[in-house]
Amino acid sequence: MLEIQNLEVCYGKARVVKGVSLQVSRGDCLAIVGANGAGKTSILRAVMGLVPAAGGRIILNGVDLTGRPAWERVTGGAGYVPEGRRVFPALSVEKNLLAGAYRVADQKKVHHSLARVYEIFPRLQERQRQPASTLSGGEQQMLAIGRALMAGPQLLIIDEVSMGLAPVVVNQAFQLIDRLHHEGLTVLLVEQNARKALQVAEWGYLLENGKIILSGRATDLRGHPDFVGAYFGRN
Ligand code: ATP
Repeated sequence: MLEIQNLEVCYGKARVVKGVSLQVSRGDCLAIVGANGAGKTSILRAVMGLVPAAGGRIILNGVDLTGRPAWERVTGGAGYVPEGRRVFPALSVEKNLLAGAYRVADQKKVHHSLARVYEIFPRLQERQRQPASTLSGGEQQMLAIGRALMAGPQLLIIDEVSMGLAPVVVNQAFQLIDRLHHEGLTVLLVEQNARKALQVAEWGYLLENGKIILSGRATDLRGHPDFVGAYFGRN
């Protein structure tokens, strides 16, 4: 479904993603984990067309989107939940959700997606007229995920779902991702919280300094000495 081939991302002279390749197949749940500053967000931003790829290719559902505008990723089937959620604080919950479907012309589809998001997140329905700024951090995370679901993606790309959330809310967020995955969505996660990410993901990639240094089945990685030493000790 998504193929990242030899991706490079640069900010000025700094090369922060250094030839990353990975493949997400339909139905997968895949996590890229790594420390702060390893380049995880930069990979996702390049996949979504929000920063240019300095090298390599991004192929979504067989279409080479390298160099194409960001919205083509969305119409091509990718939904994105950015780091820090980035909801529109002054807009109501419902307007935030509708913003996720602004490229969907068929209003029936939009209503159907809205009903589905409210079914997944009853809390958002209860708060549909409130400005997004009045939501808790966990609710804003739900809103960001709901907004990404509004365009009916096949692939959901989520950056650091756990950031800034209380442990109990982090657990709820991962349970939700697990549910969406089991309901048929393909998921690509980026996380510093390796322990949690590898509980829901089937496949894991460890990124260090812009390069993938280890990859495999999440169950195998969880027991790998490099992982245990470098990451699990801290979480
Ligand atoms: P974090 O979890 O902190 O977001 P990350 O693994 O997602 O970390 P990135 O955000 O991709 O890492 O950042 C990788 C490197 O690129 C870091 O050294 C960061 O300082 C740098 N960087 C990120 N965005 C920019 C930018 N817009 N301009 C310059 N450097 C940047």
